[in-house]
Amino acid sequence: MSKVKYVYTFGDGKAEGRADMKNLLGGKGANLCEMNLLGVPVPAGFIVTTEVCTIYNQKGKDATVNLIKDEVETAISQVEIIMKAKFNAAGDGFPLLLSVRSGARVSMPGMMNTVLNLGLNDKTVKILAEKSNNERFAYDSYRRFIQMYGDVVMGVQAEKGHHDPFEVEIDKLKKEKGYKLDTEFTGNDLKVLVDKFKAVVKKHAGRDFPTDPWEQLWGGICAVFDSWNTERAKYYRMMHQIPEEWGTAVNVQAMVYGNMGKTSGTGVAFTRSSSTGEDIFNGEYLLDAQGEDVVAGIRTPQQITLEGSRRWAEGMGVSEEKRKAEFPSLEEVMPEVYATLDTVQQKLEDHYKDMQDLEFTIQDGKLWMLQTRSGKRTGAAMVKIACDMHDQGYITEKEALLRLEPVKLDELLHPVFDTAAIAKAKVLTKGLPASPGAASGRVVFFADEAEEWKKRGEKVILVRTETSPEDLSGMHVSEGFLTARGGMTSHAAVVARGMGKCCVSGAGDVHIDYQAREFKIGSKVYKEGDWISLNGSTGEVYEGKVATITPSLDGDFGRIMDMSNRYARMSVRTNADTPGDAKVAREFGAKGIGLCRTEHMFFEGDRIMLMREMILASDEKGRRKALAKLLPMQRKDFEGILEAMDGYGVTIRLLDPPLHEFTPNDEASQAAMAKELGISAKEVKEKVESLHEFNPMLGHRGCRLGITYPEITEMQARAVIEAACNLKQKGKNPMPEIMIPLIGSVKEFKHQEQIIRKVAEEVFAEKKVKVDYLVGTMIEIPRATLTADQIAKEAEFFSFGTNDLTQMTFGFSRDDASKFLPIYIEKGMLKNDPFQQLDQEGVGQLVDLGIKRGRSARPDLKVGICGEHGGDPSSIEFFHRVGMNYVSCSPFRVPIARLTAAQAALR
Ligand code: PEP
Ligand code: MG
Repeated sequence: MSKVKYVYTFGDGKAEGRADMKNLLGGKGANLCEMNLLGVPVPAGFIVTTEVCTIYNQKGKDATVNLIKDEVETAISQVEIIMKAKFNAAGDGFPLLLSVRSGARVSMPGMMNTVLNLGLNDKTVKILAEKSNNERFAYDSYRRFIQMYGDVVMGVQAEKGHHDPFEVEIDKLKKEKGYKLDTEFTGNDLKVLVDKFKAVVKKHAGRDFPTDPWEQLWGGICAVFDSWNTERAKYYRMMHQIPEEWGTAVNVQAMVYGNMGKTSGTGVAFTRSSSTGEDIFNGEYLLDAQGEDVVAGIRTPQQITLEGSRRWAEGMGVSEEKRKAEFPSLEEVMPEVYATLDTVQQKLEDHYKDMQDLEFTIQDGKLWMLQTRSGKRTGAAMVKIACDMHDQGYITEKEALLRLEPVKLDELLHPVFDTAAIAKAKVLTKGLPASPGAASGRVVFFADEAEEWKKRGEKVILVRTETSPEDLSGMHVSEGFLTARGGMTSHAAVVARGMGKCCVSGAGDVHIDYQAREFKIGSKVYKEGDWISLNGSTGEVYEGKVATITPSLDGDFGRIMDMSNRYARMSVRTNADTPGDAKVAREFGAKGIGLCRTEHMFFEGDRIMLMREMILASDEKGRRKALAKLLPMQRKDFEGILEAMDGYGVTIRLLDPPLHEFTPNDEASQAAMAKELGISAKEVKEKVESLHEFNPMLGHRGCRLGITYPEITEMQARAVIEAACNLKQKGKNPMPEIMIPLIGSVKEFKHQEQIIRKVAEEVFAEKKVKVDYLVGTMIEIPRATLTADQIAKEAEFFSFGTNDLTQMTFGFSRDDASKFLPIYIEKGMLKNDPFQQLDQEGVGQLVDLGIKRGRSARPDLKVGICGEHGGDPSSIEFFHRVGMNYVSCSPFRVPIARLTAAQAALR
């Protein structure tokens, strides 16, 4: 048997891997290989495969190092030859320093660890200083290395509410020397800083900084593997449903130096705009800096192109003279390097046929590419880029559709500021328009507190000097982020665009005092809890809450929706209980209502009292009296909703929830109810107690209500049919579908169906008009799926209630599962919440079976789904595969479902 290969090398126009080997080499590694093969300049290096990550997780460090030692040593020798440098140099030749970076199959920006300048120690730094003839650069690299390695491998980090211990030393020395910028440090200052940093490591980690480059390398490689299992990486995986088994690869690559003085620099670039999708090369760079300086947001980066630089200056109110003098573009500063970069970016976009996110370093006037990958983008950019690339002949219409991430469409549906409100709003300050959209919320300074506030139902804006991956879960619950430092590619900006949240970054006037929980702009103080609003499209920050409006849905968005309609087989309906919701959903392209929960109509205004009167009635006569008063209200509701969806099917479900949901539990409300109904508080209390059930979701609800109190079904059926007849008489085309909930046997169905049909005939006779209507059922009890053939003989349609079906198949209470589901997910018992993403393996089997059995009795049976899963892309794909006719979801999910339905048909 041939030996398994764990290490793949690349460099000098050759590579052992390719772009299509992402599973084994990770996205970054596979693309580094591909760039080599394309003749793009890339520093030589090698990749330790993702398989080794799995081995590392099972067997630990020593076994892993033993396994890959020979291959790594051989690879290092190869890099030494190509780069003409020596790892652990002993006096001759340029020392080879390494960057050690993570790289999973899909990019997980900022989630895992990186170590740069690996290989430096007191000996190699001297050689580096001598060979580069640049002591400052050598010691700057060394202090960076100690700082990064100290943080990533040895765990030296800031504690909550404290500053980073290394940054504290930097600030102290700057103060001592009277410097403003890091770039003012001399070689000697940096030597001092190196010693201080070593002391910081010793103090915080309790051991010396390792001097042996090989020890450093193994530490670095293992730290990258360890970072696969940090809390933030796990959280990111959970959010993006990345399987734990994938593991990360480790990319070890020769360092090139952007910090060798003014002829060097580093930057990140996008081949098109990641915010708007505009087809314009753009990005940011810094001279005399290393990669992390651009993304860390410590210095404000400059624009790569002249056009970008001019736009930036205009947005920031910087004059052309000042821009040219202080913030010139790379195009102006290094025209030749810029020209090469421009050629490379076009070559890469042409090759990958997608917008690329690039990282590069310029070492002493020579350009090196460090990374290319498909760029993260906002929902708007995603749609525009797909349409443009189709128009430009890069991709077909089908490819354009398949490339879209359905959930990101959500961003295009969300509000922007109302122009009248924004005209009156007070601008506090302006930062960079880092991620578009509008957001209002209360100021919170710490990510963990953002989560607490959110749990209390507050809307929050996270305000930070800069964000880091630790803040991720807090960012997830915030409406938007405001940072005082950082550019368009700062952590906050990248994360915001990925999450589709609004972000203003680099608002330099914002001075945060974490301890006092306030920030200042000029002399004005804003405290934790104050409302502010952000415009991520302009960078403006406003005082207070600013009103928003829903955006328009034509242009590229409309094109995508039209294309989707052409390919989708399933149609998309909406779950809506009001004419307003129905209208919104229709504008989003819903073709009908898949679920109208009539109980929601009973909570409004004085209806709840009538409902209570009905519940409290001691006999049928009393109930009928109350129901008669409810009838006209229901009829009006149904008229509204049928009219809003005129010409499309409207599925109206009979009363479903247990009756206790309509009665109050506390004494004061019970007393108020007694007064209103003119009975004693005691009677109310007794009735409420009699409604108590141990398992209400398995109790007196659904069709069981209509079977025990047929008058309820009669009233609701009458309201629906009368509403439809009234509309028909007005020349409309109402298409009601009456749906019976919680059927477990065909007998239950027949009982209810008879009542409905009898009432319908009565109404037709009274009104002297007829309408077509259907009577169908929810399929949400496992027994209904098993006996679906019997039920389908009677029922004209099925609508899967996957909320209840999930509850009853797992035996997980919908209302109580949140106590243990997160732990199940954490422990890997479940991949995700089965109430959000259909459990295809289990519940899915029942869905499939129910459809097959149903159609065996009625081949043209119309089947849909109206549980929450109707808006979830992976579930929608499944519903397509099992042959459903439609999915029904909340109005704002409709576009997502339309696109997913098309993608499912295309796959
Ligand atoms: C369901 O059970 O999936 C459903 C749509 O009904 P409800 O959520 O109202 O129980
Ligand atoms: Mg249900």
